Amino acid sequence: MTATAPNVLSIAGSDPSGGAGIQADLKTFAALGAYGCAAPTALTVQNTLGVSSVFPVPVDVLRAQLEAVFLDVRIDAVKIGMLGSSDAVSVVADVLCAFKPPIVVIDPVLKASTGARLIDDSSLDALRQELLPLATVVTPNTYETAALLGISQPRSVEEARKAAGQLIAAGLRAALVTGGHLDDGEGEFAVDVLHDGQTLCELRTPRVSAPTLHGTGCTLSSAIAVLLAHGLPIADACATAQRFVAESIVRGNELAVGRGPGPVHQLGELWSRAGVLMPPDAQETS
Ligand code: PLP
Repeated sequence: MTATAPNVLSIAGSDPSGGAGIQADLKTFAALGAYGCAAPTALTVQNTLGVSSVFPVPVDVLRAQLEAVFLDVRIDAVKIGMLGSSDAVSVVADVLCAFKPPIVVIDPVLKASTGARLIDDSSLDALRQELLPLATVVTPNTYETAALLGISQPRSVEEARKAAGQLIAAGLRAALVTGGHLDDGEGEFAVDVLHDGQTLCELRTPRVSAPTLHGTGCTLSSAIAVLLAHGLPIADACATAQRFVAESIVRGNELAVGRGPGPVHQLGELWSRAGVLMPPDAQETS
């Protein structure tokens, strides 16, 4: 019997410049060995310099997209990113309850790295009450962790550990508090804190300082969804996804996209193994 690839569905916003949202998710699925489906929740108007406007997909259209996919395709994992409104949160929660996909990874996107808000205030309650309890893993950064818990933003690994415990106490099954911004991220290491519902552990990866950070949150949560669909336990999926994001940030310098902070490059490793890029001397003479 031939093994088939998992089918993974992204429910997230669209970034036409390709760095974040469903575009980042689909590249991550492709890079790590999953077939990708994608239902956009909103069309953002953005480029590498920032988000200028957001057009939500009408919620009945969002529901119809999700039902069309679930009624036809065996979905092995779902990744959820930007939702935009409490109505979108409720529709997604409803569809998940109806179709019960085995793996759900939620990146509770609140704003873009450039600062634009990607969800309204009234949606936080819906997110907390209706959607997050359905997740296999939730991947908030420290800003999102603070907003979800109503606490001040964790600044140290110790505070991130405490917050991860509070997220579990609030009803989440597993939480990965991403700590790229923690002050004491142990010098050359970035530290993410994982609470898998039973135990708390710290995941370390060498800190990379590169400007190509657009899409890191989307890529991390999508990678975790694929790796869980491949059968990895939560801690292994999170650690492998963390390394994949670090490599994709470094590989971002192999792309030349826009005038602002560039995107991560999820396909860099694959492209280099396949030799798809011409060396610079060949480009000059061609
Ligand atoms: N989803 C969408 C549609 C976005 O536009 C953004 C940021 O611009 C994000 C998610 C969050 O991006 P990141 O992965 O950089 O946190």
